[in-house]
Amino acid sequence: MVAAADPVQPFGRRGLCPALSTPMRTGDGFLSRIAFEADITPRAMMALCDLAERHGNGLIDITARGSLQFRGLSPESACALEKDVLVLGLPLREGLAVETSPLAGRDDTEVADGRFLAGEIRKEAERLALHERLAAKTSVVIDGGGSFSMVDLLADIRLKAFRLNGRIFWRLLVGGPESKALDAGAVETGAAADVVLSLLLYLAGKGPLARGRDLDRSIIKAVCGDRLLDRVTEKETAWSPSAPLGLMAAGKDFFAAGAALAFGQVRSSDLSRLCQGADMLGIRALRPSANHGMLFFGPEFACNTLLEIAKASGFIIAAGDARSSIAVCSGAPGCASAFLPTHELAGFASRECASLLDGSFTLHISGCGKGCARPAPSLLAFYGTAEGLAFAISGRADAPHDGILPFTQQRTALSRLARLHEKEHKPGENAATLFARLGKEVIGAALRQDD
Ligand code: SF4
Repeated sequence: MVAAADPVQPFGRRGLCPALSTPMRTGDGFLSRIAFEADITPRAMMALCDLAERHGNGLIDITARGSLQFRGLSPESACALEKDVLVLGLPLREGLAVETSPLAGRDDTEVADGRFLAGEIRKEAERLALHERLAAKTSVVIDGGGSFSMVDLLADIRLKAFRLNGRIFWRLLVGGPESKALDAGAVETGAAADVVLSLLLYLAGKGPLARGRDLDRSIIKAVCGDRLLDRVTEKETAWSPSAPLGLMAAGKDFFAAGAALAFGQVRSSDLSRLCQGADMLGIRALRPSANHGMLFFGPEFACNTLLEIAKASGFIIAAGDARSSIAVCSGAPGCASAFLPTHELAGFASRECASLLDGSFTLHISGCGKGCARPAPSLLAFYGTAEGLAFAISGRADAPHDGILPFTQQRTALSRLARLHEKEHKPGENAATLFARLGKEVIGAALRQDD
Protein backbone atom coordinates (compact mmCIF):
# COMPACT_ATOMS: atom_id res chain seq x y z
CA MET A 1 0.00 0.00 0.00
CA VAL A 2 1.14 3.54 -0.71
CA ALA A 3 0.37 5.94 2.08
CA ALA A 4 -1.35 9.20 1.30
CA ALA A 5 0.79 12.28 1.66
CA ASP A 6 -0.33 15.80 2.48
CA PRO A 7 -3.58 16.92 0.92
CA VAL A 8 -3.15 18.28 -2.55
CA GLN A 9 -3.62 22.02 -2.80
CA PRO A 10 -3.98 23.74 -6.16
CA PHE A 11 -2.64 27.27 -6.70
CA GLY A 12 -6.13 28.66 -7.01
CA ARG A 13 -9.55 27.69 -5.76
CA ARG A 14 -10.58 24.02 -5.78
CA GLY A 15 -11.64 22.81 -9.22
CA LEU A 16 -9.60 25.39 -11.11
CA CYS A 17 -8.46 24.08 -14.49
CA PRO A 18 -4.71 24.17 -14.59
CA ALA A 19 -3.83 26.18 -17.64
CA LEU A 20 -0.28 26.80 -18.67
CA SER A 21 0.06 29.88 -16.49
CA THR A 22 -1.75 28.44 -13.47
CA PRO A 23 -0.18 25.05 -12.78
CA MET A 24 -1.86 22.81 -10.24
CA ARG A 25 -0.07 21.01 -7.46
CA THR A 26 -0.33 17.20 -7.56
CA GLY A 27 1.50 14.33 -5.91
CA ASP A 28 4.28 14.32 -8.50
CA GLY A 29 4.81 18.07 -8.48
CA PHE A 30 2.92 20.66 -10.47
CA LEU A 31 0.84 19.98 -13.54
CA SER A 32 0.30 22.33 -16.49
CA ARG A 33 -2.34 21.90 -19.14
CA ILE A 34 -2.69 23.13 -22.69
CA ALA A 35 -5.39 22.67 -25.32
CA PHE A 36 -5.35 23.42 -29.03
CA GLU A 37 -7.84 25.22 -31.22
CA ALA A 38 -6.35 23.83 -34.43
CA ASP A 39 -4.07 21.04 -35.62
CA ILE A 40 -0.41 20.98 -34.77
CA THR A 41 2.39 19.16 -36.59
CA PRO A 42 3.98 15.93 -35.40
CA ARG A 43 7.23 17.91 -35.04
CA ALA A 44 5.52 20.39 -32.74
CA MET A 45 4.29 17.49 -30.60
CA MET A 46 7.84 16.12 -30.53
CA ALA A 47 9.02 19.51 -29.28
CA LEU A 48 6.37 19.38 -26.54
CA CYS A 49 7.55 15.88 -25.60
CA ASP A 50 11.10 17.22 -25.27
CA LEU A 51 9.79 19.97 -22.98
CA ALA A 52 7.96 17.37 -20.88
CA GLU A 53 11.30 15.57 -20.36
CA ARG A 54 13.27 18.75 -19.79
CA HIS A 55 10.94 20.49 -17.37
CA GLY A 56 8.77 17.71 -15.94
CA ASN A 57 8.97 14.01 -15.17
CA GLY A 58 8.45 12.96 -18.78
CA LEU A 59 4.85 11.86 -18.30
CA ILE A 60 2.17 13.35 -20.54
CA ASP A 61 -1.59 12.95 -20.13
CA ILE A 62 -4.25 13.49 -22.74
CA THR A 63 -7.40 14.17 -20.78
CA ALA A 64 -10.97 13.04 -21.43
CA ARG A 65 -11.52 16.44 -23.10
CA GLY A 66 -8.41 16.17 -25.27
CA SER A 67 -6.16 18.58 -23.35
CA LEU A 68 -2.46 17.85 -22.96
CA GLN A 69 -0.98 17.77 -19.45
CA PHE A 70 2.66 18.00 -18.42
CA ARG A 71 3.40 16.36 -15.07
CA GLY A 72 6.11 16.51 -12.45
CA LEU A 73 6.91 20.22 -12.73
CA SER A 74 8.35 22.49 -10.06
CA PRO A 75 7.07 26.08 -9.73
CA GLU A 76 10.25 27.21 -11.50
CA SER A 77 10.15 24.61 -14.27
CA ALA A 78 6.44 25.32 -14.81
CA CYS A 79 7.38 28.95 -15.60
CA ALA A 80 10.19 27.83 -17.89
CA LEU A 81 7.80 25.40 -19.61
CA GLU A 82 5.29 28.17 -20.19
CA LYS A 83 7.94 30.33 -21.78
CA ASP A 84 9.22 27.52 -24.00
CA VAL A 85 5.72 26.44 -25.08
CA LEU A 86 4.80 30.00 -26.04
CA VAL A 87 7.94 30.26 -28.18
CA LEU A 88 6.61 27.37 -30.30
CA GLY A 89 3.76 29.60 -31.50
CA LEU A 90 1.12 26.86 -31.33
CA PRO A 91 -2.63 27.44 -31.68
CA LEU A 92 -3.21 27.31 -27.92
CA ARG A 93 -6.69 27.76 -26.54
CA GLU A 94 -6.98 30.73 -24.27
CA GLY A 95 -9.98 31.85 -22.33
CA LEU A 96 -13.32 30.10 -22.60
CA ALA A 97 -13.36 26.48 -23.81
CA VAL A 98 -15.46 26.35 -26.97
CA GLU A 99 -15.03 22.92 -28.49
CA THR A 100 -15.78 21.49 -31.92
CA SER A 101 -15.08 18.07 -33.37
CA PRO A 102 -11.45 17.70 -34.48
CA LEU A 103 -12.97 16.41 -37.73
CA ALA A 104 -15.12 19.53 -38.24
CA GLY A 105 -14.88 20.75 -41.81
CA ARG A 106 -13.41 17.49 -43.10
CA ASP A 107 -16.12 15.00 -42.20
CA ASP A 108 -18.47 14.10 -45.06
CA THR A 109 -21.03 12.80 -42.56
CA GLU A 110 -21.30 15.99 -40.48
CA VAL A 111 -24.53 17.99 -40.57
CA ALA A 112 -22.75 21.33 -40.29
CA ASP A 113 -19.23 22.65 -39.80
CA GLY A 114 -19.38 24.22 -36.32
CA ARG A 115 -16.04 26.05 -36.53
CA PHE A 116 -17.52 29.34 -37.67
CA LEU A 117 -19.96 29.46 -34.76
CA ALA A 118 -17.22 28.45 -32.33
CA GLY A 119 -14.98 31.21 -33.69
CA GLU A 120 -17.71 33.83 -33.27
CA ILE A 121 -18.40 32.74 -29.69
CA ARG A 122 -14.70 32.67 -28.77
CA LYS A 123 -14.09 36.12 -30.27
CA GLU A 124 -16.98 37.79 -28.51
CA ALA A 125 -16.34 35.95 -25.23
CA GLU A 126 -12.77 37.19 -25.35
CA ARG A 127 -13.84 40.76 -26.09
CA LEU A 128 -16.14 40.63 -23.08
CA ALA A 129 -13.48 38.81 -20.98
CA LEU A 130 -16.19 36.33 -20.03
CA HIS A 131 -13.78 33.62 -18.86
CA GLU A 132 -12.69 35.92 -16.03
CA ARG A 133 -16.23 36.01 -14.69
CA LEU A 134 -17.46 32.51 -15.48
CA ALA A 135 -16.83 29.33 -13.45
CA ALA A 136 -13.34 28.04 -14.20
CA LYS A 137 -14.50 24.89 -15.97
CA THR A 138 -17.28 26.44 -18.04
CA SER A 139 -17.36 24.92 -21.50
CA VAL A 140 -19.35 25.21 -24.69
CA VAL A 141 -19.61 22.36 -27.20
CA ILE A 142 -20.55 23.05 -30.82
CA ASP A 143 -21.42 19.65 -32.25
CA GLY A 144 -21.92 19.68 -35.99
CA GLY A 145 -22.64 15.92 -35.98
CA GLY A 146 -20.59 13.43 -37.97
CA SER A 147 -18.46 10.47 -37.14
CA PHE A 148 -16.74 11.97 -34.11
CA SER A 149 -19.06 11.63 -31.15
CA MET A 150 -19.17 14.52 -28.68
CA VAL A 151 -22.12 13.20 -26.68
CA ASP A 152 -20.09 12.22 -23.63
CA LEU A 153 -18.31 15.55 -23.31
CA LEU A 154 -19.66 17.61 -20.43
CA ALA A 155 -20.86 21.02 -21.58
CA ASP A 156 -22.49 23.92 -19.80
CA ILE A 157 -24.02 24.92 -23.12
CA ARG A 158 -24.20 22.68 -26.18
CA LEU A 159 -25.36 23.33 -29.72
CA LYS A 160 -26.05 20.25 -31.81
CA ALA A 161 -26.74 20.55 -35.52
CA PHE A 162 -29.73 18.89 -37.17
CA ARG A 163 -31.35 19.19 -40.57
CA LEU A 164 -35.06 19.81 -41.07
CA ASN A 165 -36.68 20.23 -44.47
CA GLY A 166 -33.29 20.94 -46.00
CA ARG A 167 -32.38 23.63 -43.46
CA ILE A 168 -29.86 23.46 -40.64
CA PHE A 169 -30.90 24.22 -37.09
CA TRP A 170 -29.05 23.86 -33.79
CA ARG A 171 -30.53 22.14 -30.77
CA LEU A 172 -29.74 24.02 -27.57
CA LEU A 173 -28.86 21.74 -24.66
CA VAL A 174 -27.62 22.84 -21.26
CA GLY A 175 -25.71 21.00 -18.54
CA GLY A 176 -23.97 17.64 -18.41
CA PRO A 177 -23.27 15.12 -21.15
CA GLU A 178 -25.78 15.11 -24.00
CA SER A 179 -27.87 12.29 -22.53
CA LYS A 180 -28.47 14.24 -19.31
CA ALA A 181 -28.70 17.77 -20.72
CA LEU A 182 -31.84 19.88 -20.65
CA ASP A 183 -33.20 20.14 -24.19
CA ALA A 184 -34.20 23.79 -24.37
CA GLY A 185 -35.36 23.98 -28.01
CA ALA A 186 -33.82 24.89 -31.34
CA VAL A 187 -32.16 27.98 -32.79
CA GLU A 188 -31.42 29.10 -36.34
CA THR A 189 -27.78 29.27 -37.40
CA GLY A 190 -27.91 33.08 -37.62
CA ALA A 191 -28.95 33.40 -33.97
CA ALA A 192 -26.99 30.48 -32.53
CA ALA A 193 -23.80 32.29 -31.43
CA ASP A 194 -25.84 35.14 -30.01
CA VAL A 195 -28.00 32.79 -27.95
CA VAL A 196 -24.95 31.06 -26.47
CA LEU A 197 -23.35 34.41 -25.63
CA SER A 198 -26.55 35.66 -23.98
CA LEU A 199 -26.65 32.58 -21.75
CA LEU A 200 -22.95 32.92 -20.94
CA LEU A 201 -23.50 36.58 -20.01
CA TYR A 202 -26.38 35.53 -17.78
CA LEU A 203 -24.16 32.93 -16.04
CA ALA A 204 -21.33 35.46 -15.70
CA GLY A 205 -23.77 37.83 -14.02
CA LYS A 206 -24.63 35.11 -11.48
CA GLY A 207 -21.03 34.82 -10.32
CA PRO A 208 -18.13 32.41 -10.67
CA LEU A 209 -19.97 29.36 -9.33
CA ALA A 210 -22.92 29.44 -11.76
CA ARG A 211 -22.99 26.58 -14.25
CA GLY A 212 -25.13 25.56 -17.20
CA ARG A 213 -26.96 23.02 -15.06
CA ASP A 214 -28.36 25.97 -13.06
CA LEU A 215 -30.31 27.16 -16.10
CA ASP A 216 -33.93 26.01 -16.24
CA ARG A 217 -36.47 26.37 -19.01
CA SER A 218 -37.96 29.60 -17.75
CA ILE A 219 -34.55 31.29 -17.38
CA ILE A 220 -33.49 30.12 -20.83
CA LYS A 221 -36.75 31.35 -22.36
CA ALA A 222 -36.41 34.70 -20.61
CA VAL A 223 -32.80 35.10 -21.78
CA CYS A 224 -33.24 33.84 -25.33
CA GLY A 225 -36.75 35.14 -26.10
CA ASP A 226 -37.98 34.59 -29.67
CA ARG A 227 -34.62 33.36 -30.81
CA LEU A 228 -35.60 30.04 -29.25
CA LEU A 229 -37.74 27.99 -31.63
CA ASP A 230 -39.31 25.64 -29.14
CA ARG A 231 -41.71 24.10 -31.66
CA VAL A 232 -39.05 23.05 -34.16
CA THR A 233 -38.22 19.39 -33.59
CA GLU A 234 -36.21 16.97 -35.62
CA LYS A 235 -36.95 13.31 -36.07
CA GLU A 236 -35.11 11.24 -33.50
CA THR A 237 -32.16 9.72 -35.26
CA ALA A 238 -30.57 6.66 -33.78
CA TRP A 239 -27.02 7.48 -32.84
CA SER A 240 -24.42 4.80 -33.02
CA PRO A 241 -21.42 5.43 -30.82
CA SER A 242 -18.15 5.63 -32.61
CA ALA A 243 -14.88 5.94 -30.79
CA PRO A 244 -12.28 8.10 -32.53
CA LEU A 245 -10.05 5.08 -33.07
CA GLY A 246 -8.58 3.42 -36.14
CA LEU A 247 -8.91 4.69 -39.70
CA MET A 248 -11.52 7.33 -40.55
CA ALA A 249 -12.25 9.33 -43.67
CA ALA A 250 -11.34 12.99 -43.19
CA GLY A 251 -12.12 14.79 -46.41
CA LYS A 252 -11.26 14.17 -50.03
CA ASP A 253 -8.40 11.65 -50.26
CA PHE A 254 -7.57 12.34 -46.64
CA PHE A 255 -7.85 10.11 -43.63
CA ALA A 256 -7.48 10.26 -39.89
CA ALA A 257 -5.70 7.66 -37.78
CA GLY A 258 -7.16 7.61 -34.27
CA ALA A 259 -5.08 6.25 -31.40
CA ALA A 260 -5.67 6.64 -27.68
CA LEU A 261 -3.30 6.58 -24.72
CA ALA A 262 -3.80 3.60 -22.44
CA PHE A 263 -5.30 5.01 -19.23
CA GLY A 264 -4.83 8.52 -20.57
CA GLN A 265 -1.09 8.70 -19.96
CA VAL A 266 2.10 8.08 -21.93
CA ARG A 267 5.85 8.52 -21.56
CA SER A 268 6.84 11.49 -23.67
CA SER A 269 9.60 9.41 -25.30
CA ASP A 270 6.96 6.92 -26.56
CA LEU A 271 4.72 9.70 -27.85
CA SER A 272 7.68 11.42 -29.46
CA ARG A 273 8.63 8.20 -31.27
CA LEU A 274 5.09 7.82 -32.60
CA CYS A 275 5.13 11.42 -33.83
CA GLN A 276 8.51 10.87 -35.44
CA GLY A 277 7.02 7.88 -37.25
CA ALA A 278 4.11 10.05 -38.38
CA ASP A 279 6.47 12.73 -39.65
CA MET A 280 8.52 10.18 -41.59
CA LEU A 281 5.33 8.86 -43.17
CA GLY A 282 4.49 12.34 -44.44
CA ILE A 283 1.76 13.07 -41.89
CA ARG A 284 1.75 16.80 -41.27
CA ALA A 285 -1.16 17.37 -38.89
CA LEU A 286 -2.46 15.91 -35.64
CA ARG A 287 -4.83 16.90 -32.89
CA PRO A 288 -5.25 15.54 -29.37
CA SER A 289 -8.91 14.55 -29.06
CA ALA A 290 -11.52 13.55 -26.52
CA ASN A 291 -11.32 10.25 -24.65
CA HIS A 292 -7.54 10.46 -24.25
CA GLY A 293 -7.03 10.17 -28.01
CA MET A 294 -5.10 11.69 -30.87
CA LEU A 295 -6.02 12.02 -34.51
CA PHE A 296 -3.28 12.06 -37.14
CA PHE A 297 -4.31 13.36 -40.56
CA GLY A 298 -2.76 12.14 -43.80
CA PRO A 299 -3.05 9.79 -46.79
CA GLU A 300 -4.59 6.36 -46.24
CA PHE A 301 -1.38 4.36 -46.50
CA ALA A 302 0.45 6.62 -44.03
CA CYS A 303 -2.43 6.46 -41.54
CA ASN A 304 -2.68 2.67 -41.77
CA THR A 305 1.05 2.27 -41.29
CA LEU A 306 1.02 4.65 -38.34
CA LEU A 307 -1.79 2.66 -36.72
CA GLU A 308 0.37 -0.46 -36.88
CA ILE A 309 3.23 1.41 -35.21
CA ALA A 310 0.86 2.80 -32.57
CA LYS A 311 -0.53 -0.64 -31.78
CA ALA A 312 2.95 -2.12 -31.40
CA SER A 313 3.83 0.76 -29.07
CA GLY A 314 0.92 0.08 -26.73
CA PHE A 315 -1.54 2.71 -27.94
CA ILE A 316 -5.21 1.75 -28.26
CA ILE A 317 -6.26 1.78 -31.90
CA ALA A 318 -9.55 -0.10 -31.95
CA ALA A 319 -12.84 -0.14 -30.13
CA GLY A 320 -13.27 -3.10 -27.81
CA ASP A 321 -9.84 -2.81 -26.19
CA ALA A 322 -10.36 -3.77 -22.53
CA ARG A 323 -8.25 -0.78 -21.43
CA SER A 324 -10.89 1.57 -22.84
CA SER A 325 -13.41 0.18 -20.35
CA ILE A 326 -11.41 1.32 -17.33
CA ALA A 327 -11.50 4.84 -15.91
CA VAL A 328 -8.41 5.43 -13.87
CA CYS A 329 -6.89 8.47 -12.19
CA SER A 330 -3.17 9.20 -11.84
CA GLY A 331 -2.96 7.37 -8.51
CA ALA A 332 0.38 6.73 -6.86
CA PRO A 333 3.00 7.95 -7.29
CA GLY A 334 1.50 10.72 -9.44
CA CYS A 335 -0.94 11.97 -6.83
CA ALA A 336 -0.14 12.63 -3.20
CA SER A 337 -3.65 11.65 -2.13
CA ALA A 338 -3.43 8.17 -3.64
CA PHE A 339 -3.48 5.00 -1.60
CA LEU A 340 -2.51 2.73 -4.50
CA PRO A 341 -0.72 2.69 -7.86
CA THR A 342 -3.88 2.78 -9.94
CA HIS A 343 -2.25 2.30 -13.35
CA GLU A 344 -0.60 -0.93 -12.25
CA LEU A 345 -3.91 -2.29 -10.98
CA ALA A 346 -5.72 -1.10 -14.11
CA GLY A 347 -3.13 -2.83 -16.30
CA PHE A 348 -3.67 -6.04 -14.36
CA ALA A 349 -7.46 -5.66 -14.62
CA SER A 350 -7.29 -5.14 -18.39
CA ARG A 351 -5.53 -8.49 -18.75
CA GLU A 352 -7.23 -10.52 -16.03
CA CYS A 353 -10.76 -9.22 -16.64
CA ALA A 354 -10.53 -8.78 -20.44
CA SER A 355 -13.57 -10.95 -21.10
CA LEU A 356 -15.84 -8.95 -18.80
CA LEU A 357 -14.51 -5.56 -19.92
CA ASP A 358 -16.72 -5.76 -22.98
CA GLY A 359 -17.61 -2.05 -23.22
CA SER A 360 -20.98 -2.52 -21.51
CA PHE A 361 -19.80 -0.69 -18.38
CA THR A 362 -16.82 1.28 -17.08
CA LEU A 363 -14.70 -0.16 -14.30
CA HIS A 364 -13.52 2.73 -12.15
CA ILE A 365 -10.20 2.41 -10.33
CA SER A 366 -9.45 5.40 -8.14
CA GLY A 367 -6.49 6.18 -5.93
CA CYS A 368 -8.75 7.69 -3.28
CA GLY A 369 -12.40 8.48 -2.66
CA LYS A 370 -12.30 11.72 -4.63
CA GLY A 371 -12.88 9.81 -7.85
CA CYS A 372 -11.27 12.36 -10.19
CA ALA A 373 -11.35 10.05 -13.23
CA ARG A 374 -15.10 9.55 -13.22
CA PRO A 375 -17.59 11.81 -11.48
CA ALA A 376 -20.49 9.65 -12.73
CA PRO A 377 -21.55 6.44 -10.94
CA SER A 378 -19.97 3.18 -12.11
CA LEU A 379 -21.33 -0.29 -12.07
CA LEU A 380 -18.17 -1.17 -10.17
CA ALA A 381 -15.71 1.24 -8.57
CA PHE A 382 -12.61 0.42 -6.53
CA TYR A 383 -10.96 3.18 -4.55
CA GLY A 384 -8.18 3.48 -2.02
CA THR A 385 -8.84 4.37 1.61
CA ALA A 386 -6.69 4.37 4.74
CA GLU A 387 -8.32 1.04 5.68
CA GLY A 388 -7.87 -0.74 2.37
CA LEU A 389 -9.37 -1.03 -1.10
CA ALA A 390 -13.03 -0.06 -0.95
CA PHE A 391 -15.51 -1.16 -3.60
CA ALA A 392 -18.81 0.39 -4.57
CA ILE A 393 -21.33 -1.43 -6.74
CA SER A 394 -23.46 0.91 -8.85
CA GLY A 395 -22.05 3.89 -7.03
CA ARG A 396 -19.51 6.67 -7.17
CA ALA A 397 -16.06 6.55 -5.67
CA ASP A 398 -17.07 9.28 -3.22
CA ALA A 399 -20.24 7.45 -2.10
CA PRO A 400 -20.40 5.03 0.86
CA HIS A 401 -18.68 1.76 -0.06
CA ASP A 402 -20.14 -1.74 -0.19
CA GLY A 403 -17.07 -3.35 1.33
CA ILE A 404 -13.36 -2.97 1.98
CA LEU A 405 -10.65 -5.44 1.02
CA PRO A 406 -7.11 -5.59 2.33
CA PHE A 407 -4.71 -3.99 -0.17
CA THR A 408 -2.93 -7.34 -0.43
CA GLN A 409 -6.08 -8.77 -2.04
CA GLN A 410 -6.56 -6.16 -4.76
CA ARG A 411 -5.42 -8.40 -7.59
CA THR A 412 -7.06 -11.49 -6.14
CA ALA A 413 -10.37 -9.64 -5.96
CA LEU A 414 -10.18 -8.84 -9.68
CA SER A 415 -9.37 -12.49 -10.43
CA ARG A 416 -12.43 -13.52 -8.40
CA LEU A 417 -14.53 -11.10 -10.42
CA ALA A 418 -13.23 -12.61 -13.66
CA ARG A 419 -14.06 -16.14 -12.39
CA LEU A 420 -17.56 -14.97 -11.39
CA HIS A 421 -18.12 -13.68 -14.91
CA GLU A 422 -16.79 -16.88 -16.48
CA LYS A 423 -19.01 -19.04 -14.28
CA GLU A 424 -22.23 -17.06 -14.40
CA HIS A 425 -22.58 -15.29 -17.72
CA LYS A 426 -25.09 -16.66 -20.21
CA PRO A 427 -24.37 -16.80 -23.94
CA GLY A 428 -24.87 -13.35 -25.46
CA GLU A 429 -25.19 -11.65 -22.08
CA ASN A 430 -22.93 -8.64 -21.57
CA ALA A 431 -21.17 -7.92 -18.30
CA ALA A 432 -23.44 -5.03 -17.32
CA THR A 433 -26.55 -7.20 -17.70
CA LEU A 434 -24.93 -10.06 -15.84
CA PHE A 435 -23.90 -7.89 -12.90
CA ALA A 436 -27.34 -6.28 -12.76
CA ARG A 437 -28.85 -9.78 -12.68
CA LEU A 438 -26.49 -11.01 -9.95
CA GLY A 439 -26.94 -7.95 -7.74
CA LYS A 440 -24.78 -6.36 -5.06
CA GLU A 441 -24.86 -9.27 -2.62
CA VAL A 442 -23.46 -11.85 -5.03
CA ILE A 443 -20.82 -9.50 -6.46
CA GLY A 444 -19.76 -8.34 -3.00
CA ALA A 445 -19.55 -11.93 -1.75
CA ALA A 446 -17.42 -12.91 -4.77
CA LEU A 447 -15.05 -10.01 -4.21
CA ARG A 448 -14.69 -10.94 -0.54
CA GLN A 449 -14.91 -14.63 -1.40
CA ASP A 450 -17.08 -15.19 1.64
CA ASP A 451 -19.18 -17.77 -0.14
S1 SF4 B 1 -8.93 10.35 -7.25
FE1 SF4 B 1 -6.85 9.87 -7.87
S2 SF4 B 1 -6.03 11.72 -8.83
FE2 SF4 B 1 -7.89 12.29 -7.67
S3 SF4 B 1 -7.11 12.96 -5.67
FE3 SF4 B 1 -7.62 10.77 -5.49
S4 SF4 B 1 -5.76 9.65 -5.97
FE4 SF4 B 1 -5.48 11.77 -6.65
